[in-house]
Amino acid sequence: MAANITTVSESRELRGLNLIAAHSHIRGLGVEPDTLEPKSSSQGLVGQEKARKAAAIILQMVKEGKIAGRAVLIAGPPSTGKTAIAMGMAQSLGPDVPFTMLASSEIFSLEMSKTEALEQAFRKSIGVRITEESEIIEGEVVEIQIDRSVTGGNKQGKLTIKTTDMETIYDMGTKMIDSMTKEKVIAGDVITIDKASGKISKLGRSYTRSRDYDAMGADTKFVQCPDGELQVRKEVVHTVSLHEIDVINSRTQGFLALFSGDTGEISSDVRSQINTKVGEWREEGKAEIVPGVLFIDEVHMLDIECFSFINRALEDELAPIVIMASNRGNTRIRGTNYRSPHGLPLDFLDRVVIVSTHAYSTDEIRQILAIRAQEEEIDVSPNALALLTKIGQETGLRYASNLVTTSDLLAKKRRAREVGVEDVQRSFHLFYDPERSVKFVSDFEKRFIG
Ligand code: ATP
Repeated sequence: MAANITTVSESRELRGLNLIAAHSHIRGLGVEPDTLEPKSSSQGLVGQEKARKAAAIILQMVKEGKIAGRAVLIAGPPSTGKTAIAMGMAQSLGPDVPFTMLASSEIFSLEMSKTEALEQAFRKSIGVRITEESEIIEGEVVEIQIDRSVTGGNKQGKLTIKTTDMETIYDMGTKMIDSMTKEKVIAGDVITIDKASGKISKLGRSYTRSRDYDAMGADTKFVQCPDGELQVRKEVVHTVSLHEIDVINSRTQGFLALFSGDTGEISSDVRSQINTKVGEWREEGKAEIVPGVLFIDEVHMLDIECFSFINRALEDELAPIVIMASNRGNTRIRGTNYRSPHGLPLDFLDRVVIVSTHAYSTDEIRQILAIRAQEEEIDVSPNALALLTKIGQETGLRYASNLVTTSDLLAKKRRAREVGVEDVQRSFHLFYDPERSVKFVSDFEKRFIG
């Protein structure tokens, strides 16, 4: 496996930047770690306590591997934080747990079938944590020296390893020095290795390499090679998604497709070979599966074929947790003439856990707008914030949040240090919210078409 392929966390940064920018203030779900009780405003999230607690419980179950083959639906009116909560969940997952965002309308515009697009999204959301042993120092090790004086403490230190052809200064971190301290090695000690026997000794005392040195660092190993040479090796762990492995091994695509984003359709043969290979790695203890999260926004836009695909995919042994969001009530299931709650087929709804979000109070809107302004490093006068809050209440949080940015541009133009009421007023007149925009267009139509 090539070491320089894109890791999950890197590719996560590249994906859906636009979707994420509006939520850059969110750092987690803002719940107490032990009780999962949400704080009223924490980690960028305000209010919506019930939904946040539910999300935290689901996350806990994901972490404990207790929730497989299930899907979660976050349902609520527009701009009530459904995506924000999903982002909070993503932030609370470990750095190598994949999180994929998919806007349902996206899959109808890609140059591949809907089910292929969904399959790719599913496989992007499953991580494979691969452990490899890579060599860091080669050659005969003739001398190892520990110098704890560099930091003055017991916790860290510098280890100098001299080999026949190079001298490497190697920071071993806490574990190493602690285990060495147990063996009463002090600053400046020189430990030599008997090349013939492979034994390591200090002040006449002998240490058996395997017992003492293998414990030095969890990820560091001293390995005796068949020719008697000693090698220092370090274990490297990287996580890639199943989709990335598919693309790399897809003969027609090659790994460059990962950078262009043009991965095309991947054959089912490649996928089943990869599944078998990953299964083997798991048995050999070389790889671990990390089920991630697939977030599907505007889920009511999916059609009946997509739902039956997801229903089946959730049965798979390698399934991520699927979180969906919808701001629709009873609506038609696309591809059918039936109406159902949130536009989801009833057999699919059966396996879905529903979490709901509700409209915000004035105070919550004010707090969220203040957090957005702070995130964008914008100073807003108290009166301007009050006006933005009022606009937020009447037109929605997303529009008000966009006005923070545009008002700041206007304030900067008049060289003001903070956004004032006049900037918000001008912005409000320059940029329409959906309701005024619809009114403007229909008035315009009446004038010309009527
Ligand atoms: P839609 O149904 O229209 O897709 P949504 O429910 O997904 O809307 P979001 O996009 O999450 O709404 O919210 C709109 C904006 O308000 C985003 O910038 C989001 O980060 C912010 N926001 C929403 N709720 C909260 C909250 N509880 N705390 C902090 N920020 C929030």
